[in-house]
Amino acid sequence: MPKQVKKIIETLEANGHEAYAVGGCVRDTLLLRMPEDWDVTTSAKPEQVKALFSHTIDTGIEHGTVTVMIDHVGCEVTTYRIDGEYEDARHPKEVAFTSNLAEDLKRRDFTINAMAYNESTGLVDEFDGLEDLKRGIVRCVGDSEERFTEDALRMLRAVRFAAQLGFTIEENTKEAIRKLAPAIAKVSVERIAVELVKILTSDHPEELRMAYELGLTAVFLPEFDVAMKTEQHNIHHLYTVGEHTIEAMRHVRPEKNIRLIMLLHDLAKPVVKTTDEEGQGHFRGHTQGGADMARRILRRLKFDNATIELVAKMVKHHDDRPEEPDAIRRMFSAIGLENVPMMLEIKRADLLAQSTYQRESKFAIVDNLEAHYRECVEKQICLQKKDLSVNGSDLIAMGMKQGKEVGLVMEQLFEAVIEDPEMNQREKLLALAHKLITPFI
Ligand code: ATP
Ligand code: MG
Repeated sequence: MPKQVKKIIETLEANGHEAYAVGGCVRDTLLLRMPEDWDVTTSAKPEQVKALFSHTIDTGIEHGTVTVMIDHVGCEVTTYRIDGEYEDARHPKEVAFTSNLAEDLKRRDFTINAMAYNESTGLVDEFDGLEDLKRGIVRCVGDSEERFTEDALRMLRAVRFAAQLGFTIEENTKEAIRKLAPAIAKVSVERIAVELVKILTSDHPEELRMAYELGLTAVFLPEFDVAMKTEQHNIHHLYTVGEHTIEAMRHVRPEKNIRLIMLLHDLAKPVVKTTDEEGQGHFRGHTQGGADMARRILRRLKFDNATIELVAKMVKHHDDRPEEPDAIRRMFSAIGLENVPMMLEIKRADLLAQSTYQRESKFAIVDNLEAHYRECVEKQICLQKKDLSVNGSDLIAMGMKQGKEVGLVMEQLFEAVIEDPEMNQREKLLALAHKLITPFI
């Protein structure tokens, strides 16, 4: 336990209150995992907590949560509470404080998340959380259907914990999800997106299949359901579009952007699929279509613009296979040199999730891209207009009038440099500029 948390608990106890570390931090510590954050649950009322510490923030005061700052580290301290009636499968209408720890543990979602610990009492485990932890089981505290009816997000959280911890969802809990999955439509997309990202960036992104089987993705990611049902009928592939997606995700780092790109890279395939006389499936246009679809999906899930633009761009170019140096430079210019290493990882993962047909030659193309990437970095090859050795002011100094023609000439200069990087020497480029601007002066 971090010393700040220890100090908070000891201070509360010294003033006649009960206090425990609770939830995720207890679970993760027992699993020898590093907790994301430490939460404290206490019998003290929020005002009493605030009176005991010099620096506190009213994080969720109406729900009894105060953030206590010690040595610049924040710890959420929440008063023991009972959640009242739930409205709309989302929010408790009101919360009531209680002086009974067991009551507080009862409102928590899963047995593995409903344990409390402090040094004076040891582990408080009212619902056999430790046993479920040992056996690797996600099980609701109390009646599953009731708990999911109170807050539908818990259904997706069950899948998330299975994915993060490599656990299985207990059978009754699973049945309840299957039955109540449509209710997740009532949960805000922001909360859904948080859990989705946690599933994708976990050690077991394949658990997204479970979210599909239980009927959850049908609500917030129906495009994935279609992919799971789309056969590829193609010599390059072994799996449905959905299974290929899952396999591809497993082959990239557990980082948000790249896992999102793998999730979305082929989702337009079902839409553009055609079948030839030999029965082979083809997917012309799936990259542009996929980029548009990725944008729509991520906007719907309220991701930020930077994420949306990066993902769409990488989806659009994920299947580019340039072999000639100028075509390679054009691709690097389109995605940005800084994104090339990520693109190499995407392409290799994509190949590993395909059949082994022509695998070696496919990898050779990626290796060639990587060699060119190194060269571009080493030689500081110009791949962006701003790195040209001539700029708009030079053209104006040569006699051009300010206006869109300047942009057009710059465009042509850039094109010449992409064709031949040697052209990006000031003398050479000025000479070319001279020829190009003649019609405009
Ligand atoms: P993480 O590692 O993501 O922080 P966590 O288990 O700590 O996982 P939080 O969302 O931080 O999850 O919530 C802290 C604790 O609050 C949980 O362990 C659980 O006891 C309780 N909790 C959180 N969300 C819910 C919910 N929707 N319904 C019931 N209890 C919840
Ligand atoms: Mg937490």
